[in-house]
Amino acid sequence: MRLRNIAGSREVIADSPYVVQEAEQPHCPGNWKKIFGNDNPVQIEIGMGKGKFIHTMAGMHPEINYIGIEKYSSVLLRAIQKMEREELPNLRFLRMDAEEITQVFAPGEVDRIYLNFSDPWPKDRHAKRRLPSREYLARYDVILKKGGKLEFKTDNRDLFDFAVAELEPAGWRADVITYDLHGDRELMRGNVMTEYEEKFSALGNPICKYIISRQGGSHKPGGN
Ligand code: SAM
Repeated sequence: MRLRNIAGSREVIADSPYVVQEAEQPHCPGNWKKIFGNDNPVQIEIGMGKGKFIHTMAGMHPEINYIGIEKYSSVLLRAIQKMEREELPNLRFLRMDAEEITQVFAPGEVDRIYLNFSDPWPKDRHAKRRLPSREYLARYDVILKKGGKLEFKTDNRDLFDFAVAELEPAGWRADVITYDLHGDRELMRGNVMTEYEEKFSALGNPICKYIISRQGGSHKPGGN
């Protein structure tokens, strides 16, 4: 998602109390519990877009801390505006490229990762940029706690097939896979629709989803 550059969005972000600012990011690893002021688990959405999913999740689960990550200021601005309308104490935002994700979380600091309708990057030479690629899975491997899970939804079948094929070589396993989420009553329980999910399911596109965890269950750095 790339909205037209919105004048002033960088200034709004720089002044927003909901955003952990770039200058503070080097101090984040190991400190998220301090940032939120409690010991609750931390869950993140990478590529949150305008933030509908993570804002709804944070409202539904006050016992969990959420961090929404978005690359583009003009898109993050929309998530900030949503927070200004309905402030939630357990939600913060990071404006950053997820390529740098291991620089803002300590090993094992994240309880769950959500990828929703990630950009497909259809050209083969751009495969490394896909958020469910093995290169990104290696980064998630570092920050996800032992036994932590990653959930991915998309209506893009090519991207989903790619993501499933990446699991084995990257050392992950699928706990759940569906090619028709909205047709699965059990998996739909508690499902929070994202902006893209609303749009594409309304067009009749089936939504694919997996929930994955590491083979062996440990993150690499400590191997514990
Ligand atoms: N998750 C939302 C949804 O399901 O409605 C938005 C989906 S949109 C197609 C993908 C979003 O991911 C865009 O807003 C894009 O800017 C963001 N994004 C893509 N690559 C990213 C990266 N490397 N780091 C951070 N955000 C990224």
